[in-house]
Amino acid sequence: MVAIPVIAGLPKHIGAGTTTASRIMWIGLTILSLVGLAWLNRWWRRRWQGAVGETRRWRELNERLAGAHERDRLASGRRQSALFDSMVEGVLVLDAQGRVQLVNASFRRMFKLTNDITGRTIMEAFRLRELQELLEQLPARGRVTDFELQPNTLRGQTLQVNAVSLAGHEEGEGGSMLVFHDLTHIKQLENSRKEFVANVSHELRTPLSMIKGYLETLLDGAKDDPEVADRFLKIIEKHADRLTFLIEDLLNISNLESGQAGMNVQAVALSEICDRVIEDLRQLAEKREMQITSGIAVGLRVEVDPSRVQQVLFNLVDNAIKYGRKGGQVAISASLDGEGFAKVCVRDDGPGIPPDAREHVFERFYRLDKARSREQGGTGLGLAIVKHIVQAHSGEVWVESELGKGAAFCFTVPAAGAAPV
Ligand code: ADP
Repeated sequence: MVAIPVIAGLPKHIGAGTTTASRIMWIGLTILSLVGLAWLNRWWRRRWQGAVGETRRWRELNERLAGAHERDRLASGRRQSALFDSMVEGVLVLDAQGRVQLVNASFRRMFKLTNDITGRTIMEAFRLRELQELLEQLPARGRVTDFELQPNTLRGQTLQVNAVSLAGHEEGEGGSMLVFHDLTHIKQLENSRKEFVANVSHELRTPLSMIKGYLETLLDGAKDDPEVADRFLKIIEKHADRLTFLIEDLLNISNLESGQAGMNVQAVALSEICDRVIEDLRQLAEKREMQITSGIAVGLRVEVDPSRVQQVLFNLVDNAIKYGRKGGQVAISASLDGEGFAKVCVRDDGPGIPPDAREHVFERFYRLDKARSREQGGTGLGLAIVKHIVQAHSGEVWVESELGKGAAFCFTVPAAGAAPV
């Protein structure tokens, strides 16, 4: 602020003895300088305010830019960690000293980590010697690909590791990045495929070698004895039938597993399907002096592929006759479960199925008694086919059994809506 002098008190020497003209001039000069000072004061204040405003605007602009930059940085960090965590592969980043810098969510899941392992070495964090050895080779090799790891801490898991050494600009910089791919499921599929091929080969080889053996014996002279020839030819026929059944079942399974089996779904009376099955198996039941009864209401209709469900019922009733008690009973029953499905059960009064075998009986080639199954002409695929067909109808299949008191194989299929009469 510039101080403005007050006119009232003029200097003493301007008083007496000075002319009127010089007094007026002095007053004019004073007024002029006062106006000049006032203008200068205003001009200065405006410039000052302008400069202050300008500085504030710059500051605000800078703050806005810094804020936008920080938001961009945070958003990009969030995007990167979302990408990092959404990866199916597990990622582990180590520094030049081999200490954990970063792991993603998949890695934590794969190794079932619950605590923070940042800053620890591989041995401290996992005690995995194979992984430690792989890390030691990394600086010399630069990269290691397709290394298979079966961590003893994760039983049954197979992981594929791809590791790369990260170069740094300065001494002590750099490190390594390891990417883990979970191969467990692929390995399980591969094992079950190998097991399947081995089982099929075995199942084919057994009847084939029997046929060949009996044929050779016939050709060696047994054919000349009509009685022996007749007996041997019947055995050959039995094994040829077994081969035919096995190939039919294998084709069936592969068709169902490939999902190419077309379903001809329609509303049908369950009792009609059941009657056809009973008719087809009447002779076999008579041979084992068994009785088959059906308690399926005539009005119970289901929305299914009739020929497929007939196959399910056939396999279950066939098993009940084959493995049930000679001279015993086989009862077929059905009811609505109140959730849009019909529950069908085939019950026998045979030896039943032990608890530990119940979860396996629907697996391909699983048998409680191999010799008995083969003797009965079983392929070991009947229940696996049942399971596939029921699942293709969105139903479920299970077994209930009390040892020594028989077994009940039950399944559900969609009901067609009509109530039983
Ligand atoms: P298989 O051709 O051997 O009959 P399945 O898949 O139909 O093959 O059955 C698998 C195994 O389940 C049979 O070998 C048998 O040991 C057992 N099994 C099936 N049904 C019954 C049953 N009703 N009672 C006792 N065991 C059964």
